[in-house]
Amino acid sequence: MKSPTQLKEIEDFKSAYIKKIEEVSGEYLALSSHLNQYQALAEIVMEKVATQWAKTSAQYDTIPHKRVYLFSIEFLIGRLLKSYVNSLNWEETVKIAMHELGLDYQTILDQETDPGLGNGGLGRLMACFLESAATLGLPFHGNGIHYKHGLFEQKIINGEQVEVSDNWLRNGYPFEIRKPNESVIVKFYGDIHYEKVNGALTFVYENYEPILAVPYDLPVKGYHNSTVNSLRLWSAEPLDEFDLLSFNKGQFIDAVRHKSEAEAITQILYPNDNEAGGKLLRLKQEYFFVCAGLKRIISRFKRFNQNCLDDFSEKIAIHINDTHPALCGPEMMRILMDDEGLSWNDAWKITQNSLTFTNHTVLPEALEKWPVEMMKFLIPRIYMIIEEINRQFGESLRLKAGLNELQISALSIIQDNQINMANLAIVCSHSVNGVAELHSKILKEETFNGYYKLFPERFHSVTNGVTPRRFLINCNTNLRDLITESIGTEWIKNLYDLENLMRFKNDLAFAKRFCQIKLDNKIRLSHYIKQQNQIVVNPESIFDIQVKRIHEYKRQLLNALHVLHLYNCLKANPNQEFIPRTFIFAGKAAPGYYFAKEIIKLINAIAELVNNDPAIHDRIKVVFLANFNVSLGEIIYPAANISEQISTAGKEASGTSNMKFMMNGAITLGTMDGANIEIYEAVGKENIVTFGLSSDEVTHYEKQGGYSSIEVYESNEHIQKIMHQLIDGTFGHLGNFQSIYDSLLLYNDTYFILKDFDSYLGAQKRINSIFQDKTKWFNMALHNVAYSGRFSSDRAVLDYQKKIWKTI
Ligand SMILES: *Cc1c(COP(=O)(O)O)cnc(C)c1O
Repeated sequence: MKSPTQLKEIEDFKSAYIKKIEEVSGEYLALSSHLNQYQALAEIVMEKVATQWAKTSAQYDTIPHKRVYLFSIEFLIGRLLKSYVNSLNWEETVKIAMHELGLDYQTILDQETDPGLGNGGLGRLMACFLESAATLGLPFHGNGIHYKHGLFEQKIINGEQVEVSDNWLRNGYPFEIRKPNESVIVKFYGDIHYEKVNGALTFVYENYEPILAVPYDLPVKGYHNSTVNSLRLWSAEPLDEFDLLSFNKGQFIDAVRHKSEAEAITQILYPNDNEAGGKLLRLKQEYFFVCAGLKRIISRFKRFNQNCLDDFSEKIAIHINDTHPALCGPEMMRILMDDEGLSWNDAWKITQNSLTFTNHTVLPEALEKWPVEMMKFLIPRIYMIIEEINRQFGESLRLKAGLNELQISALSIIQDNQINMANLAIVCSHSVNGVAELHSKILKEETFNGYYKLFPERFHSVTNGVTPRRFLINCNTNLRDLITESIGTEWIKNLYDLENLMRFKNDLAFAKRFCQIKLDNKIRLSHYIKQQNQIVVNPESIFDIQVKRIHEYKRQLLNALHVLHLYNCLKANPNQEFIPRTFIFAGKAAPGYYFAKEIIKLINAIAELVNNDPAIHDRIKVVFLANFNVSLGEIIYPAANISEQISTAGKEASGTSNMKFMMNGAITLGTMDGANIEIYEAVGKENIVTFGLSSDEVTHYEKQGGYSSIEVYESNEHIQKIMHQLIDGTFGHLGNFQSIYDSLLLYNDTYFILKDFDSYLGAQKRINSIFQDKTKWFNMALHNVAYSGRFSSDRAVLDYQKKIWKTI
């Protein structure tokens, strides 16, 4: 029964909505399109959120709480409408109102574009942190880039990835507010010279090219509270065209050229994951959002602190998310010295005490380096400052730490005529951290060992986390309701409370519902698969899922070769007992990453072979879902039985999809890598399936040699058969996979796929035997949900607050 207040709320909502439809479309509800229906709902929701937003901002101006600004070149925020509705506690009202108006709520939600302003885990992490901070009521803002085109849309045509540009702003975007009055000018190119002004040496910057940075602010709303923080995304625009025309003495063509060159800076997101680009435009992007963001933060700080910057670092933390915003160091020095007139030493103290740095990868190809010439040309003043930071740093190593020249050059920010951005970030920050225990250990012992020996106190570890609101509560509502009915609502804000679920481990009625929910989620995903790929899958089969960026180190290839092997076994022995499996893959490959695209093609070739072979009797199905993004993830994670986390040990810094799957009751099948190790510790060895080389073993082979993929090949006939199939025409018109064959056999299998193959096979067999014991499987799944508390991004954010920003 609905209470009178609730009934009134629904009626009020309905009339507001009917009116809003007319405003956005100029039509009556009955004639409105789905898009208009979405726009109307979005506007109503945004109005409510904006009221709380204004209030939060005003409150922050009066309380002296330390603010944190996350600088990141990516924020992979996902769709927002449902998040806002649920966090406002409007879910029931909106659902009922839509229903009573004869509208389909899900169809309306599906009109929203999913802004692809990030590549994968790194950008998604920032979105999770922002959501958690708002839910915890902490003053915590994001600073990034307003890309006009996000990550490309992936289509699969003839088994291959085809990239289509992503125009997420096509229909407008209702959740951002453009703030032209908070624009700033960012300067590129030009010349620097010294001048004596009143006896002091000052730098004069001339002939530069000014670009206007215009902020777009998005509200980040806390769950069931009234905190609304901001994500500020900067868009590059030409200076006022009139000014420019007069500046260029009426040269219209030049003015137009300037316009498109300015806009180019924020046109596209670079579609690389774990790879450093090295392009001038990328460096421009990095400086652009760092410069604009810092200028605004510093000027706002002055406004509220009587123009005094002395205690800036006590009140503000600037966080460098991976090396892309590492120019925060020299840019802050520039602002404090050139614009604010501070001395080098005073500026340095404030800069270093404000900055903190998180490293996200140890893959060498992802560690950014910029040619000195490029930096000097594009941002000459910044280059001068980097040189001076490096000179002083070298000097202190020589005098205070007593290092020799060889040791100093190994730690230098400038090496081989390149700026090493990780070194720059470390030298300019007071804290450096990795994103899981193993990763942080590798940073200390290997990647940044030289720095660790000098400043052990600067190094920390904070394991990543994910927001349970998006990745459990809003995307798996049936499980949410079961949990809440069983243990109350406290877990939503304190995920450790899920441990109380262990009380139900012997409760049959609970177990039945828990398993039914998983089945229902699998049915939902099956419908999606049918609709997208025209493949019918069996929801009773094991859903074995690997969804993430396609990369050699993540080893989708190992998974695919295992499927091919199973197929061979079934063909050789069609009557064997076989537990049906559905292998689901999704993920984008960087457009320039040939090998990753070949892996996608191979998965699709295997799918075609296996799915259409009558001898298999539908016992194996292989599905590659196109265009993996946050929204697709929200359908996939709740439907998984097995979470494939099979990176070569030591290569995956943390992983976060492992956590999303776990929260939704999937069993991890993984290597001892990244946060998998901590999942292992949390659930216990009985409730996870692990295999493969350890990170130490991998490092040993890499350093000492001793691994020969040919030897493994020669001693294993299953592997021989699979390898031949890659090149013998097995895949018909989809062709051969010579490059994959060569990488494994000719180039000795850099990622230890053949080395780990047998061990992986064994792990997969263990899964089969466990799955047959329904009680055991339920128990394992329950452990995974119950012990996922520590993988909440609430915990991660609080860890940063305690260990790194020292705000609590
Ligand atoms: C969580 C997430 C990722 C990260 O997945 P990993 O398996 O940790 O690499 C990538 N993309 C999207 C869309 C995600 O939601």
